[in-house]
Amino acid sequence: MKVQVVVVGGGIGGLTAGALLSHEGYNVTILEASREWGGCAGKFQRGKALFPVGATLGMGLEEGGIHQRIFNTLGKKCESLLLNEVMEIHFPTHHITLYRDRKRHVHEIKKTFQEQATQIEFFYREVYHIAAEIRKLMTSLPVLPPKTTKEWLRLVKSLQPSSVQLMPYFNRTMIDLLKKHSLENSPIKHFLDGQLIDSMQVMTDECSSLLGCLALDIYHEGAFYVNGGLYKFAELLKESAESKGARTILGRKVSSIRKEKNLWQVVDHRGNEYTAEHIVCNAPIQQLSQLLSESDWSILKRSFKGKNEKDVWGTMTLYMLLDESKLPESMALFQQVCTSSEGNMTEGDHIFLSLSHGNDRLRAPEGYRTMTASTHTLLSKWDTKEKYDEYKVELQSKMLRSIENIIPGFQQSIVDVYPGAPKAWERFTNRPNGVVGGFPQSLDNSLFKSLSHRTPLKNFWLCGDSVFPGAGTIGVSVSGYHVFHSITGRSLGY
Ligand SMILES: Cc1cc2nc3c(=O)[nH]c(=O)nc-3n(C[C@H](O)[C@H](O)[C@H](O)COP(=O)(O)OP(=O)(O)OC[C@H]3O[C@@H](n4cnc5c(N)ncnc54)[C@H](O)[C@@H]3O)c2cc1C
Repeated sequence: MKVQVVVVGGGIGGLTAGALLSHEGYNVTILEASREWGGCAGKFQRGKALFPVGATLGMGLEEGGIHQRIFNTLGKKCESLLLNEVMEIHFPTHHITLYRDRKRHVHEIKKTFQEQATQIEFFYREVYHIAAEIRKLMTSLPVLPPKTTKEWLRLVKSLQPSSVQLMPYFNRTMIDLLKKHSLENSPIKHFLDGQLIDSMQVMTDECSSLLGCLALDIYHEGAFYVNGGLYKFAELLKESAESKGARTILGRKVSSIRKEKNLWQVVDHRGNEYTAEHIVCNAPIQQLSQLLSESDWSILKRSFKGKNEKDVWGTMTLYMLLDESKLPESMALFQQVCTSSEGNMTEGDHIFLSLSHGNDRLRAPEGYRTMTASTHTLLSKWDTKEKYDEYKVELQSKMLRSIENIIPGFQQSIVDVYPGAPKAWERFTNRPNGVVGGFPQSLDNSLFKSLSHRTPLKNFWLCGDSVFPGAGTIGVSVSGYHVFHSITGRSLGY
């Protein structure tokens, strides 16, 4: 008899675990609440346009990258375009191109912040050196925090003599690193804040230095445009799981997960029941108190101690169909807009823009492009109906004005605009109150203080953006893989 596994949630984390387990011969059922696969990296159609829900910039597709290793293992290939110019970052008085090539990137930054050119050179040398050391450690995909002897052994085995160089950085933040190079008051801090808020959900003042260095370095390993969008990851994983016999069911919101004797009983919103030896929970951890029995939740929540939900961000996203003829001829596919040269990085003062490729006929028909624009927002700004309605209008027009500043004529090109405020995120991706992005990667939430995929409940596993190593399709794939590895004992090839 094959071992039965129920995966709750068909985001990239759940689908990764589900596809790998099916590939290994497990009897897998994947239940997804919405009508689309991929969750925050999914898609939706409005009229003639197809929009990515959230994730658009693909990483981990390079040789040795996590998605590439997983697709290789599953015998799948994801078509993608490697970007030599990863993104354009706009400030009120200047703009910076983020180049894939590290040397060119540092040259660009030094050119922009000429007065600190020497410090910047040394700062980036250190950043890239730390990142290279971490990457060596990560090849075997160790788990943090280690909870079992095997996990400790794997962590120790992944260490190399040179890993000792990382020790001094464990309790440091990115601002400590900037201070070391006398850059804490330099305008480069603002540029780095913008990079880190998108990938680490936190700025230099609080961001773990180890993860911050990795985040700054990762674009140089390879950033990719995927035709259609990153929902292609979800599609490939789902196809692979199905080809190995998995049941993949959309429109099944799990409402309860209970242990009965030695098996888990799962019930969906329609009252259908599923029995499994293992549960892989990809639903946001903010749902667990509702899904589990009181006694299981009281055991589990102890391991969440210190994880403050209030720290988690929401997002306001605008989905737009644009008339290409009214846009400038050449535009970067990925851009960041910072409305000031210092200060805030949320609430429309920092916006991430993703434009569909001119040849991407999956996202928009000939003559049109789609754009998604997202900004971080505090959920407390949306907590009453009056505040919500008012702020939605205010933030939308602020975002559109800021985009117009960097793309003159932009507002004229808008054919349709659909706002995605926190409640829309809750409705379509089942993120309670619209929480997205997992825990900010501060010293309190990262590395040894992360949430493990392993829980105190036997055969109840977690994967997704609140679990080590965190958010982004790369992060959630790693947690999906960790679940697979813990259940099967099998490792991933290269
Ligand atoms: C605006 C935005 C932009 C982003 N941009 C990028 C980017 O460019 N590149 C990148 O790599 N990452 C990006 N990310 C991050 C990335 O999208 C996420 O980290 C990742 O997709 C999260 O995956 P997940 O598996 O943890 O969860 P989710 O994507 O949330 O998936 C969980 C799934 O579980 C389902 N579910 C929930 N509850 C239940 C239930 N009770 N029963 C059944 N199903 C349930 C949900 O419907 C959902 O489909 C972005 C995120 C946002 C918000």
